[in-house]
Amino acid sequence: MVRLKSQPMHKLEKCYLGGCSNDDPEEEPPGKRSISDDLEEEPPSRRNISHVLEEEPPGKTTTTRHRFFGDIPDSLWNNWKWQFRNRITRVEQLVQFFPLSTEEQAQLRLVTMRYPLSVTPYYLSLINPDDPDDPIRKQAIPSPLEMTMGSMGLEDPLGEKEDTVVPGLIHRYPDRVLLVLTDICPMLCRHCTRKREWRNGGWVRPPSEVAAILDYISQHKSIRDVIISGGDPLTLSNRHLEDIISRIRGIKHVEIIRIGTRFPVVLPQRIDNELCTMLAKYGPIWLNTHFNHVREITPEAAKACDRLLRSGVPVNNQSVLLRGVNDSVEAQTELCHGLLKIKVRPYYLFQCDEVQGTEHLRTPVETGIKIIEGMRGHTSGLAIPTFVIDLPRGGGKVPLQPNYVLAQTEGELVLRNYEGRVFHYRNPTTLARPELPADVLCPAGSATASLPQEAAANSS
Ligand code: SF4
Repeated sequence: MVRLKSQPMHKLEKCYLGGCSNDDPEEEPPGKRSISDDLEEEPPSRRNISHVLEEEPPGKTTTTRHRFFGDIPDSLWNNWKWQFRNRITRVEQLVQFFPLSTEEQAQLRLVTMRYPLSVTPYYLSLINPDDPDDPIRKQAIPSPLEMTMGSMGLEDPLGEKEDTVVPGLIHRYPDRVLLVLTDICPMLCRHCTRKREWRNGGWVRPPSEVAAILDYISQHKSIRDVIISGGDPLTLSNRHLEDIISRIRGIKHVEIIRIGTRFPVVLPQRIDNELCTMLAKYGPIWLNTHFNHVREITPEAAKACDRLLRSGVPVNNQSVLLRGVNDSVEAQTELCHGLLKIKVRPYYLFQCDEVQGTEHLRTPVETGIKIIEGMRGHTSGLAIPTFVIDLPRGGGKVPLQPNYVLAQTEGELVLRNYEGRVFHYRNPTTLARPELPADVLCPAGSATASLPQEAAANSS
């Protein structure tokens, strides 16, 4: 059993999270009530679903909760603010959960001076402490490789600073903007693209900057899609979030609002009835989350996603391809099948951005293409995410997939299917064909070079 000492909170966290301090009881977020309280209020049909989810966790999760946190009652464990206050943030605390030599501790202390540590007790309880290569551990616990390979990559690979039009608002594509409300996250993912922000010590966008952001959106009628991101915007209290969401919803030309959050994965207790009731008022709201491994799909995570879906908030998943975490066909297939079971759509699989301090987790681009190739045809298309690279310097997302076009001649395509069998496909020529560069359908250097011998024989 491990004794937890609540973490001191940054002043702004106290202010905006609310309820974590006795100074402002009005700010107490609804998460104060335990999940079990909420369940008692649910109609019987809903209770049944929660019951089923508990019986059949898609990830077949094992947890060390009772080994390490056995003295924490459900009322605290299921309280997101308790989880948030008791994040593990120091190497000295890690020693209570993982065997670490003195030398390893010293190395990790060095790493955390540059890239801090933060993991919720809930997420930590999903780690197998006896496996140094555990895929959950790799996402949460620092590695000395963050420093030894730290010279590789860029601080801001996506060039977000260049596309920032007013503080906190990135406007790269004509019809959508990304709003960064805070840099606070319940967990600091070791592969985070915005690792550069971690040193700034926890901030929440002040009201004057939020006003300038909303003013910009109001004045740009081409903006139909607003993405609220961070850090993690759900670290803010419901009251604060509602104030901002309602003002965005009040802008006539904004059609949809998207929220980017990892709370359903790292602290699903945050997704309570009061949050969902508030979100339901301002739809259409879409939520993008970030599951990377099937073991993250716990009964708690499933329940969080179920609540969102029942509130009319569709949930999509954006996973990141990570070495030793999910870089195989099997791992991705299990993850995506698990997501579909909880009605979450596998949306994107991102090539890990070239961020300083993440090189050890990055994979060759070919790994992602091979994974998609290994899934396509072997499982339903609904289970297959789009593999994308987010290009450096603000180039935007580019989808990558295996090349199935072996050759293109006048009026015909030569295609291979998922089994490598080759097919000739007549391309209609009688109607006007759009003007396309000659290599669009058959990219340069493709085709026969990658044609398996057996398939090449079939095609001739
Ligand atoms: S939740 Fe997202 S923004 Fe926060 S640390 Fe993880 S990857 Fe970065």
